[in-house]
Parts: sequence; structure tokens; C-alpha cells
Amino acid sequence: MKLLSTGNPKILKGMKQGYNTYILHLAPANLSGHETCPKRTAGCTSACLNTAGRGGMFKKGETTNTIQKARIRKTQLFFSNRDEFFHQLINDIELAIKQSARLGLTPVFRLNGTSDLSFEKYSIMGTGKNIFQLFPQVQFYDYTKILGRKVAHIDNYHLTFSAADGNDADVLGAIAQGYNVATVFGMKKTQPMPETYNGRTVFNGDESDLRFLDPKGVIVGLYAKGKAKKDTSGFVKYPTVMMMAA
Ligand code: SF4
Repeated sequence: MKLLSTGNPKILKGMKQGYNTYILHLAPANLSGHETCPKRTAGCTSACLNTAGRGGMFKKGETTNTIQKARIRKTQLFFSNRDEFFHQLINDIELAIKQSARLGLTPVFRLNGTSDLSFEKYSIMGTGKNIFQLFPQVQFYDYTKILGRKVAHIDNYHLTFSAADGNDADVLGAIAQGYNVATVFGMKKTQPMPETYNGRTVFNGDESDLRFLDPKGVIVGLYAKGKAKKDTSGFVKYPTVMMMAA
């Protein structure tokens, strides 16, 4: 089973900058029967990017598709046979490194495309190393809602904290710890992002997915996509409304 995928529109933007992002999409929340998002909120669960793009295209009368089934299979492999999962992941990463070299691109990896697992905690097949330590020469990055992950010593793993409905205290904690904070704004792509939010400069995170290149100390603004466009839970923020109300 191939674990990593590539090729969504944001990744194509990154290729123009010389990077090839490979993403691991697991089944989010508890869709596989296993929880992969320990800090998910009601709003993010229902607006999750899991059903963005082809992952959300279902034949009439059906509630699943081959993409969703594959994500569930990968997640079940992670929980049922971790050695096999990491064996496959290592193969995929090695292949991606070679493939990118042929294309003249730098491979980068996002293992929580649609999950929020603390991969730093998983020591691989008796090596005493996690996946980041096994590939110290390559860059990994993710978004997370888990505050306090022990990753400061992992130079090749970059985390951006994710704001959601009801995690304001963790957002403040993340800012205090120096994280950039990804925030989904409920505005059209034709509208400019707000210049500041929560007292911080907003950086347009939709220009590419290469979060490890972002300036430090910013809000990473993202336009609402898919189901998030209709969110009323507080997951999506509406800066214009807030400014008017202030
Ligand atoms: S934590 Fe992320 S991946 Fe999990 S349900 Fe929420 S938005 Fe989706």
C-alpha cells in the first residue's frame, strides 16, 4: 500500500518554489475506529479538509469513495501493524527523495495531512529513532492543535499551531511559545486577508503549503474551503465582522 500522495493545487504552487510536498492522509477523527485527532473540536471535525477535493466526491447514494477507504485502510494499518506501516512509510520516503532528485525538486513531507498524531513519539522498529530522526536530511512539517508537543529539539520538523472553535487559550499559549498560528478566515479568495489579527501580522498561507518557510510570529491566514465555508461553530473566523463589532 502506498502511503504518501502528492499533487493537490497548493502543492503545485510549492513546486514552482522548488519543493515537492508528499502528504500522508490518514482518516481523521475516529472515522477508522481509531482516534487520530486528540484535540479536535466540533467545528474542525465537521469542516475537516478530509472531504475537500476528490476526497469529498461521492457517487449518488454513497457515503464513501476509494479515497476515504484508502485513508481508513492506512490508519488501520498504523494501529494494527505499526512495524509494517513504518516499513512502508520509509520505502515511500526513500522513493520520494529519489523521485524529487530526478525532478530537480526538494522533497518535503507532511505526515498529518488529515490527522494530528504526535509522530515524534513513535520509535521505529528497534532503531530508537522516530521518523524525523531517521531522515535528518529532509524537512517535515505539520499543523497541530496539540499544545506542548516535545519537538523543539527536532530541527527538521516544523509545526504550525491551528486555531479552532474553543481553543483560544491554547492559541495564546502557542503564541507565547513562539508558534505561528493558522487561522481559517471566512472570506472569499477575491478579498484580501486582514492585515492583522489577534494583534499579529497576517501572512497569506494559501500562497503555498510550505509552512516551514513562513516568517516567525505571524498568523497564517487560510481561506475557508469546502464545508468550512458554511461553518458557524467558531472554527472559521470572520475578521470583518469582529472589527465592526469592536
Ligand atoms: S484536527 Fe485537523 S484533521 Fe483532525 S478533524 Fe480537526 S481539522 Fe480534521
